[in-house]
Amino acid sequence: MNGPEHMFIGFLIFFLAGVFLFNFSMTDPYFILLVLFSGFSALVPDIDHHKATMRKWSDKAVPIFSFVFFFVQTNHFILAMGYAAIIFLAYLFYFEYLGPKHRGITHTLIFNAGYTALLFFTFGFMFAVSGGLGYLSHLLADKHIKLI
Ligand SMILES: [Zn+2]
Repeated sequence: MNGPEHMFIGFLIFFLAGVFLFNFSMTDPYFILLVLFSGFSALVPDIDHHKATMRKWSDKAVPIFSFVFFFVQTNHFILAMGYAAIIFLAYLFYFEYLGPKHRGITHTLIFNAGYTALLFFTFGFMFAVSGGLGYLSHLLADKHIKLI
């Protein structure tokens, strides 16, 4: 299944959950944001796939976000650049050389639970539901569900 199909299923799963389980109004901007987030989350498991859309984004997002993160933490441009470079090199090394095989660890329920927990502590309950369901929809669509 390709990226757009996964994303569509991700949109759909939270659209249905939001309308039928949480009684969201379809025109509520918060609901629309959650639907979009669920679609985005449905792409996350394929981060381990070299040509996956997610990898193209994460190759840019990882250095940018780590720089912003460390710049906010340290308020020091050069230091933040250095930390961001280390993170990015570690990221490249992990994905290029240690090569998690496609449908490896990111296609497990443990990873799904970790992603959901991270969202819960960072963005709260509804984002955890939306992201967790989007992620799960990917594993279901791949028909590839492992616990660990
Ligand atoms: Zn997949």
